[in-house]
Amino acid sequence: MDNCLFCKIIKGEIPSAKVYENGKILAFLDINPVNPGHTLVIPKTHYANLVETPEDVLDEMIRAVKKIASAILQATGAEGFNLGVNNGKPAGQLILHTHFHIMPRRAGDGLKHWPGKPYREGEMAEVAEKIRGEL
Ligand code: 5GP
Ligand code: ZN
Repeated sequence: MDNCLFCKIIKGEIPSAKVYENGKILAFLDINPVNPGHTLVIPKTHYANLVETPEDVLDEMIRAVKKIASAILQATGAEGFNLGVNNGKPAGQLILHTHFHIMPRRAGDGLKHWPGKPYREGEMAEVAEKIRGEL
């Protein structure tokens, strides 16, 4: 994809701080990290988002996540990590090239989980039924 920032990073047209690479996957530091070591894991082939990414590519991505996350914890001394996907613009996806965020975490680092809100009476069963109907 000519106008894709991550494709340009893959081609080396834009510099990046690479941490891992194999035949199918590239991982590099996010330029605007929630904590130092925040890493983006992307396939070397362009897919717009997670849903459009073939299963075999997702397998490779999650295997890379497991390997790289352990290295990030060792290297940064972080005590845990969040694995994030923003799928689609309403969910905050800015770069339309599928990617996982690995975000190293420490107790008391100030990052907050997303807020939850309760279902109204009967809504939970209704929503679950609708989703099951689509599967
Ligand atoms: P999204 O919101 O699409 O899930 O996340 C895109 C991420 O890409 C953001 O966290 C942003 O900081 C990161 N990013 C945007 N431009 C660049 C860049 O030029 N280089 C690197 N390394 N990361 C970038
Ligand atoms: Zn791309």
